[in-house]
Amino acid sequence: MLTLEQATVRFGGRAALDAVDLDVAEHEIVCVLGPSGSGKSTLLRAVAGLTPVDGGRVLLDGADQAGVPAHRRGVGLMFQDHQLFPQRDVAGNVAFGLRVRGAARPERTARVAELLELVGLPGAQRRAVAALSGGEQQRVALARALAPSPRLLMLDEPLGQLDRGLRERLVAELRRLFGRLGTTVLAVTHDQGEAFALADRVVVMRDGRIAQSGTPREVWQRPADEFTARFLGFEN
Ligand code: ATP
Ligand code: MG
Repeated sequence: MLTLEQATVRFGGRAALDAVDLDVAEHEIVCVLGPSGSGKSTLLRAVAGLTPVDGGRVLLDGADQAGVPAHRRGVGLMFQDHQLFPQRDVAGNVAFGLRVRGAARPERTARVAELLELVGLPGAQRRAVAALSGGEQQRVALARALAPSPRLLMLDEPLGQLDRGLRERLVAELRRLFGRLGTTVLAVTHDQGEAFALADRVVVMRDGRIAQSGTPREVWQRPADEFTARFLGFEN
């Protein structure tokens, strides 16, 4: 459903995304791992249409996305720094994408309640986002990204600020939820445990390229090269 062909993004002279080929199948959950600066966020932004590609192509359901603006791509992106609307309350944030799509108020109200329940913030509709903790804000951002049921959901470090217990619970819940909804997911994480618990497939990035792609088990048992092995924590 998502295909990248030689997708390249340059900043100055440097390729942050360097001729990347990637296929994500319908209903697949792919986790992108890689050190800081390896191009993970750039990959998501290029697919979302927030950063134009300088070379190669991004295709969604076979259609070249060149020139298609972000809001017409039918993809959801939860940003690394979540970027909530500070002047709106929790419900206003979660319902944002639904309002844009013209959903009626009763539908929005029901969906917001359902999503807040899901992310562990039941009843938080009227709370001011500025008064929430970092982890709570992250959960609101996750609910906002899920709200319009995007054909492709992209998450950039979705659970980064949460404590381990909550993170493990949410990962298990997300995996079940995505399975139930049939959501296609491309998620960036620093946390290997999270990637291995969530993903059907893991993609390891290095210097704007894909160093390895495989099932969590394959990557774990047979790192493609020394870089991947070291990154996964194998010392030799
Ligand atoms: P992190 O794990 O720290 O979030 P990342 O893998 O998401 O890292 P990117 O944000 O994709 O990394 O950045 C890849 C490279 O591109 C980095 O060298 C970064 O400095 C550079 N870069 C990203 N965005 C821009 C920009 N808007 N202008 C210039 N350089 C950029
Ligand atoms: Mg990033």
